[in-house]
Amino acid sequence: MAGLGYSDARRQAAAAAAEALARGRSPADATRAAIAAADAFFDHVRRALDLDAQLKRQACAAGCSWCCHQIVAVTAAELDLVAEAIAAKPPEARAAIAARAREAAAKGAGLDQRQWWAARIRCPLLEDDGLCGVHTARPLPCRAHNSADASACRRSFEGEAVRTPVLAAQQGIWAHAQAGLAEALQGAKRSAEGMNLALAVDGLLRE
Ligand code: SF4
Repeated sequence: MAGLGYSDARRQAAAAAAEALARGRSPADATRAAIAAADAFFDHVRRALDLDAQLKRQACAAGCSWCCHQIVAVTAAELDLVAEAIAAKPPEARAAIAARAREAAAKGAGLDQRQWWAARIRCPLLEDDGLCGVHTARPLPCRAHNSADASACRRSFEGEAVRTPVLAAQQGIWAHAQAGLAEALQGAKRSAEGMNLALAVDGLLRE
Protein backbone atom coordinates (compact mmCIF):
# COMPACT_ATOMS: atom_id res chain seq x y z
CA MET A 1 0.00 0.00 0.00
CA ALA A 2 1.42 3.38 -0.98
CA GLY A 3 2.96 5.32 1.87
CA LEU A 4 2.69 2.45 4.36
CA GLY A 5 5.76 0.40 3.50
CA TYR A 6 8.85 -0.13 5.59
CA SER A 7 10.84 1.98 3.14
CA ASP A 8 8.48 4.87 3.98
CA ALA A 9 9.23 4.36 7.67
CA ARG A 10 12.94 4.48 6.90
CA ARG A 11 12.62 7.58 4.70
CA GLN A 12 10.53 9.50 7.22
CA ALA A 13 12.85 8.70 10.14
CA ALA A 14 15.88 9.59 8.00
CA ALA A 15 14.33 12.89 6.93
CA ALA A 16 13.41 13.87 10.51
CA ALA A 17 16.85 12.99 11.85
CA ALA A 18 18.65 14.67 8.94
CA GLU A 19 16.65 17.85 9.46
CA ALA A 20 17.58 17.92 13.16
CA LEU A 21 21.26 17.44 12.35
CA ALA A 22 21.14 20.07 9.57
CA ARG A 23 19.80 22.54 12.15
CA GLY A 24 22.85 21.89 14.29
CA ARG A 25 20.98 19.77 16.83
CA SER A 26 22.77 16.99 18.69
CA PRO A 27 22.76 13.31 17.68
CA ALA A 28 20.52 12.66 20.71
CA ASP A 29 18.06 15.22 19.30
CA ALA A 30 18.28 13.49 15.91
CA THR A 31 17.39 10.23 17.64
CA ARG A 32 14.43 11.91 19.32
CA ALA A 33 13.33 13.21 15.91
CA ALA A 34 13.60 9.73 14.35
CA ILE A 35 11.61 8.26 17.25
CA ALA A 36 8.88 10.89 16.86
CA ALA A 37 8.71 10.23 13.12
CA ALA A 38 8.49 6.47 13.63
CA ASP A 39 5.84 6.87 16.34
CA ALA A 40 3.75 9.00 13.98
CA PHE A 41 4.31 6.53 11.14
CA PHE A 42 3.30 3.57 13.29
CA ASP A 43 0.15 5.40 14.34
CA HIS A 44 -0.64 6.08 10.68
CA VAL A 45 -0.18 2.38 9.84
CA ARG A 46 -2.21 1.35 12.90
CA ARG A 47 -5.18 3.37 11.72
CA ALA A 48 -4.83 2.51 8.03
CA LEU A 49 -4.49 -1.23 8.60
CA ASP A 50 -6.84 -1.35 11.59
CA LEU A 51 -4.28 -2.94 13.90
CA ASP A 52 -6.06 -2.10 17.16
CA ALA A 53 -7.44 -5.62 17.66
CA GLN A 54 -3.96 -7.09 17.22
CA LEU A 55 -2.43 -4.49 19.50
CA LYS A 56 -4.99 -5.34 22.19
CA ARG A 57 -3.83 -8.95 22.04
CA GLN A 58 -0.25 -7.97 22.77
CA ALA A 59 1.10 -9.39 26.01
CA CYS A 60 3.73 -6.69 26.58
CA ALA A 61 3.17 -4.89 29.88
CA ALA A 62 5.13 -2.92 32.45
CA GLY A 63 7.31 -5.28 34.46
CA CYS A 64 7.55 -7.97 31.75
CA SER A 65 11.17 -7.97 30.65
CA TRP A 66 12.16 -11.31 29.09
CA CYS A 67 13.16 -9.45 25.92
CA CYS A 68 15.55 -7.23 27.89
CA HIS A 69 18.09 -10.06 27.99
CA GLN A 70 19.39 -9.86 24.46
CA ILE A 71 21.96 -7.81 22.61
CA VAL A 72 20.51 -4.44 21.64
CA ALA A 73 22.43 -3.01 18.70
CA VAL A 74 22.45 0.79 18.79
CA THR A 75 24.07 3.71 17.03
CA ALA A 76 26.19 6.22 18.93
CA ALA A 77 23.30 8.68 18.59
CA GLU A 78 20.94 6.32 20.42
CA LEU A 79 23.62 5.78 23.05
CA ASP A 80 23.85 9.57 23.50
CA LEU A 81 20.12 9.69 24.26
CA VAL A 82 20.49 6.85 26.78
CA ALA A 83 23.53 8.61 28.29
CA GLU A 84 21.45 11.75 28.86
CA ALA A 85 18.83 9.69 30.71
CA ILE A 86 21.49 8.00 32.84
CA ALA A 87 23.16 11.34 33.64
CA ALA A 88 19.82 12.69 34.91
CA LYS A 89 19.59 9.91 37.53
CA PRO A 90 20.76 10.20 41.14
CA PRO A 91 24.29 8.93 41.88
CA GLU A 92 23.14 5.68 43.50
CA ALA A 93 21.02 4.76 40.46
CA ARG A 94 23.95 5.53 38.15
CA ALA A 95 26.22 3.39 40.30
CA ALA A 96 23.75 0.48 40.12
CA ILE A 97 23.65 0.74 36.31
CA ALA A 98 27.44 0.88 36.19
CA ALA A 99 27.68 -2.27 38.33
CA ARG A 100 25.17 -4.14 36.17
CA ALA A 101 26.95 -2.97 33.01
CA ARG A 102 30.28 -4.24 34.38
CA GLU A 103 28.67 -7.59 35.13
CA ALA A 104 27.05 -7.79 31.67
CA ALA A 105 30.36 -6.95 30.00
CA ALA A 106 32.22 -9.53 32.08
CA LYS A 107 29.73 -12.24 31.13
CA GLY A 108 28.93 -11.19 27.60
CA ALA A 109 31.96 -9.69 25.85
CA GLY A 110 32.57 -11.63 22.64
CA LEU A 111 29.22 -13.46 22.68
CA ASP A 112 26.92 -13.39 19.68
CA GLN A 113 23.19 -12.83 19.95
CA ARG A 114 22.35 -16.54 20.42
CA GLN A 115 25.04 -17.03 23.05
CA TRP A 116 24.06 -13.83 24.87
CA TRP A 117 20.40 -14.94 25.05
CA ALA A 118 21.43 -18.41 26.24
CA ALA A 119 23.58 -16.80 28.95
CA ARG A 120 20.51 -14.79 30.09
CA ILE A 121 22.45 -11.57 30.39
CA ARG A 122 20.28 -8.76 31.68
CA CYS A 123 20.38 -5.33 30.10
CA PRO A 124 22.11 -3.06 32.64
CA LEU A 125 19.31 -0.54 32.21
CA LEU A 126 16.68 -3.02 33.39
CA GLU A 127 15.68 -2.18 36.95
CA ASP A 128 14.93 -4.75 39.65
CA ASP A 129 11.19 -4.08 39.31
CA GLY A 130 11.31 -5.20 35.68
CA LEU A 131 10.96 -1.68 34.30
CA CYS A 132 13.30 -0.06 31.80
CA GLY A 133 15.34 2.56 33.63
CA VAL A 134 15.48 4.76 30.54
CA HIS A 135 12.05 4.01 29.13
CA THR A 136 11.44 7.29 27.28
CA ALA A 137 15.03 7.26 25.95
CA ARG A 138 15.15 3.55 25.08
CA PRO A 139 16.80 2.71 21.76
CA LEU A 140 14.82 1.98 18.63
CA PRO A 141 15.23 -1.85 18.69
CA CYS A 142 13.62 -1.89 22.16
CA ARG A 143 10.56 -0.23 20.63
CA ALA A 144 10.41 -2.97 17.99
CA HIS A 145 10.09 -5.80 20.53
CA ASN A 146 6.59 -7.10 21.02
CA SER A 147 4.82 -10.36 21.71
CA ALA A 148 1.31 -11.74 21.84
CA ASP A 149 2.38 -14.46 24.26
CA ALA A 150 4.45 -13.65 27.35
CA SER A 151 4.66 -17.33 28.28
CA ALA A 152 6.37 -18.02 24.94
CA CYS A 153 8.87 -15.26 25.78
CA ARG A 154 9.47 -16.83 29.20
CA ARG A 155 9.89 -20.32 27.76
CA SER A 156 12.32 -19.01 25.16
CA PHE A 157 14.25 -17.26 27.94
CA GLU A 158 14.35 -20.56 29.80
CA GLY A 159 15.90 -22.25 26.77
CA GLU A 160 12.93 -23.82 25.00
CA ALA A 161 12.90 -23.59 21.20
CA VAL A 162 9.66 -21.70 20.77
CA ARG A 163 8.36 -19.17 18.27
CA THR A 164 7.01 -16.01 19.82
CA PRO A 165 4.02 -14.54 17.98
CA VAL A 166 4.81 -10.93 17.12
CA LEU A 167 3.20 -8.01 15.35
CA ALA A 168 5.50 -7.85 12.34
CA ALA A 169 4.54 -4.27 11.49
CA GLN A 170 5.90 -3.02 14.82
CA GLN A 171 9.16 -4.90 14.40
CA GLY A 172 9.59 -3.80 10.82
CA ILE A 173 8.77 -0.14 11.30
CA TRP A 174 11.22 0.33 14.17
CA ALA A 175 13.97 -1.67 12.47
CA HIS A 176 13.61 0.45 9.37
CA ALA A 177 13.39 3.65 11.40
CA GLN A 178 16.74 2.75 12.94
CA ALA A 179 18.13 2.23 9.44
CA GLY A 180 16.79 5.69 8.57
CA LEU A 181 18.50 7.20 11.58
CA ALA A 182 21.76 5.52 10.55
CA GLU A 183 21.32 6.89 7.03
CA ALA A 184 20.90 10.43 8.39
CA LEU A 185 23.97 10.06 10.62
CA GLN A 186 26.05 8.85 7.67
CA GLY A 187 24.75 11.73 5.57
CA ALA A 188 25.99 14.13 8.27
CA LYS A 189 29.35 12.33 8.33
CA ARG A 190 28.74 10.87 11.74
CA SER A 191 29.25 7.29 12.85
CA ALA A 192 26.33 5.00 12.19
CA GLU A 193 28.13 1.87 13.27
CA GLY A 194 26.14 -0.50 15.43
CA MET A 195 27.33 -1.28 18.95
CA ASN A 196 26.19 -3.52 21.78
CA LEU A 197 24.22 -1.30 24.17
CA ALA A 198 25.25 -3.09 27.37
CA LEU A 199 28.95 -3.02 26.49
CA ALA A 200 28.69 0.60 25.35
CA VAL A 201 27.01 1.61 28.63
CA ASP A 202 29.81 -0.17 30.48
CA GLY A 203 32.40 1.79 28.49
CA LEU A 204 30.51 5.04 29.04
CA LEU A 205 30.30 4.66 32.82
CA ARG A 206 33.90 3.61 33.20
CA GLU A 207 35.13 6.80 31.53
S1 SF4 B 1 17.15 -0.27 27.20
FE1 SF4 B 1 15.32 -0.68 28.41
S2 SF4 B 1 13.84 -1.64 27.00
FE2 SF4 B 1 15.88 -1.77 26.04
S3 SF4 B 1 16.69 -3.79 26.65
FE3 SF4 B 1 17.43 -2.28 28.15
S4 SF4 B 1 15.92 -2.32 29.83
FE4 SF4 B 1 14.96 -3.32 28.03
